[in-house]
Amino acid sequence: MDELIRDILRRKASGGGVTVRGWLRTARHAKNLSFLEISDGSCFAGLQVVAGPECARFEEEVRGLGTGCAVEATGELVDSPGEGQRFELHASEVKLVGGVDADYPLQKKRHGFEFLRTIAHLRPRTNTLGAVLRVRDGATRAINDFFHARGFVQLHSPVITLSDAEGAGDMFRVSTLEPGNAPRDADGEIDWKQDFFEAPSYLTVSGQLEAEIGALALSRVYTFGPTFRAENSNTSRHLAEFWMVEPEVAFCDIDGLADLAEDFLKSVFRQVGDQCEEDLAFFDKRVDDSVLSTLAHVVDQPFGRITYSEAVEILQASGREFEFPVGWGADLQSEHERFLTEEHFGKPLVVTHYPKGIKAFYMYGNDDDRTVAAMDVLVPRIGEIIGGSQREHRLDILKRRIAEQGLPEEHYWWYLDLRRFGSAPHAGFGLGFERLVQFMTGMANIRDVIPFPRVPGNAEF
Ligand code: ATP
Ligand code: MN
Repeated sequence: MDELIRDILRRKASGGGVTVRGWLRTARHAKNLSFLEISDGSCFAGLQVVAGPECARFEEEVRGLGTGCAVEATGELVDSPGEGQRFELHASEVKLVGGVDADYPLQKKRHGFEFLRTIAHLRPRTNTLGAVLRVRDGATRAINDFFHARGFVQLHSPVITLSDAEGAGDMFRVSTLEPGNAPRDADGEIDWKQDFFEAPSYLTVSGQLEAEIGALALSRVYTFGPTFRAENSNTSRHLAEFWMVEPEVAFCDIDGLADLAEDFLKSVFRQVGDQCEEDLAFFDKRVDDSVLSTLAHVVDQPFGRITYSEAVEILQASGREFEFPVGWGADLQSEHERFLTEEHFGKPLVVTHYPKGIKAFYMYGNDDDRTVAAMDVLVPRIGEIIGGSQREHRLDILKRRIAEQGLPEEHYWWYLDLRRFGSAPHAGFGLGFERLVQFMTGMANIRDVIPFPRVPGNAEF
């Protein structure tokens, strides 16, 4: 395979023959000279190609090239006299590989993100989406590197599940029964025993329960896969299908988990900052001018750490009029979270010790008997980016919590078994990958940091 533009631009010196293939970002035809900017998506920058009359097919083909055409250009790599690029290609030949119909929707002007979502098949060719996709890739690698350097094993948790992970969100049903013609039982209810899995089944909302199985055998595991929530909320921070990173660690308590989360975010930010420098510089310049300062801040500053009770006190003393009332026992709303992390602390914040009444049954009960060892990491602009907890590993207390919440114990037989056979303290968290990418890039809407967003009313592409 030939070099990509990324590799060519990293060369130490100009000189030598080069062939590049890609799509024209721009084509400018001056008198006797054509300037073509080719992008192959391998890096933010394109390669400038200069073609004159000595270039093969100049009059017949090169002069007619326009934005969006797929081309192959061959020539010599020379130092560029122009600003903003080290090298350019003096073409001896430019071949049209695939032409562009007149209604190509990506013209040189800037398009709104909303419009671009309607052409998700073409938007990866824009500067912004290209940069987003490379940052996603860079973050994926940084996450895998972080865990592997610390002895974590990646566990592949299932996408289809019978359990609802304590109602983390509304679920999508998975079924092969025909709607409207499903078999009925004696009571006239749909007979799920005749469905594919012989039980009601769903797309997973979280890999956590399976990750706990993994941690109680392999000590440190993480999952990184798609999760699904049928939340009918049209917000800029929720998708129906999103990717979640879920580490689970045996012999770990809530403090160890908070340390892990902070280390993790710092390390991923540092690596992405190094590997996606040009892309991040673009976001800082064109999307949100706090991207680079935020990045430096996350890496350099220790995160804040407070308890839920302290958070409530701060909010009550703030003199702010919030839309949702603040009071001990009520969940923190996004406006509260953002006040704390953006305004009061001005940095990422770990909040622990939430009231047990608003948290899932599996969270470790603290000695005060009113809070659980839950943890959220809040960051400016986004609010909650990570949610996690130390898990309840004591069988009797776990059973009591299941009963208190009115859940069917038999449903959790294997989860309870883990507490009967070599139970050990363990803890884990879930990071919404798209929220991480939003935070890193400054992109305002979560639909613009995933290539093919699934949201209420739309699963096209
Ligand atoms: P929120 O209150 O923001 O809806 P949550 O409390 O439902 O979040 P968790 O169940 O703790 O979230 O899930 C773990 C993480 O997954 C969250 O911290 C968040 O980063 C991410 N997340 C949750 N729901 C979504 C969603 N619908 N789209 C994208 N990311 C999500
Ligand atoms: Mn939610």
